[in-house]
Amino acid sequence: MLTEQLVESVAFNLLKQAVIYLPDDVRQALGKAYSEETSETGKTQLKAILDNIELAEKYQAPVCQDTGTIIFYIKAGAKVTNLDKIESAVTSATKRATKEVPLRPNAVDPFTGKNSGDNTGRYLPVLNWEIVPGDTLEMTVMTKGGGSENVCQGGMIVPGEGIKGVKKFVIDAVIKAGAQPCPPTILGIAMGGGADVSMKLAKKTLLKPLTDHNPDPEIAKLEKEIFEAANMTGIGPMGLGGKTTVLGVHIDYAFRHPASFPVAVVFNCWASRRATARINADGSVDYLTHKLK
Ligand code: SF4
Repeated sequence: MLTEQLVESVAFNLLKQAVIYLPDDVRQALGKAYSEETSETGKTQLKAILDNIELAEKYQAPVCQDTGTIIFYIKAGAKVTNLDKIESAVTSATKRATKEVPLRPNAVDPFTGKNSGDNTGRYLPVLNWEIVPGDTLEMTVMTKGGGSENVCQGGMIVPGEGIKGVKKFVIDAVIKAGAQPCPPTILGIAMGGGADVSMKLAKKTLLKPLTDHNPDPEIAKLEKEIFEAANMTGIGPMGLGGKTTVLGVHIDYAFRHPASFPVAVVFNCWASRRATARINADGSVDYLTHKLK
């Protein structure tokens, strides 16, 4: 049985896991980048990142001082009851995690500049809902850093430019972003839908492990092409030069209006933080990305 207290405690654990322990696929990709990086400066930066990850675990401290904007993705089984309690449960988990983990308070009123002090406010934490068949509730938290968010780009290309135009849009965005998103980054790319849909889809792809490539071989090929092109820019780790500018690329799409070709690219920094758990109908919890620590 799903209760508000249970959801609150799982959301709190997910926030704590996400900000302290990077997912295994990201750590492995950073380790691989370190062993393959040929630039001395790039290698030094990757070593500092890897040391930082170890120290965060050792001292149980967030892996980056910017603990980001708190975003939840909820996959709710249609048979789950008490869904009306989820929003208040994740809001209260966010407040508690801000105090106890702790998280940096990152929720500011755009009019007054006043920080709420607890990472909550109008539309924060962000909640993305999906109703699926079944009686379980899957909850994922992403804590999204400001530096990488600042360089996200959404735009419209001329429909006639097609996929060539998408590649240009993305690589231009990577070059323009330079050091700002704390590379190596992960790129979430989406096209189609509308301006809002492509942005949402692009960000959601960042929940996928780096080892997951698009099941459509043509799209997987495009992911690889953009990955290689982005790494040829030479921006390198923390923008100081090297061959590791991105760790991975994910692509999604929606059908589009014939006259519109929306494209979105969402950056995630190396501190790519996400954690997922499933709450079962009997109240048991499976932590899917992290062992409960
Ligand atoms: S962009 Fe990422 S790594 Fe850089 S300061 Fe923000 S959260 Fe930290």
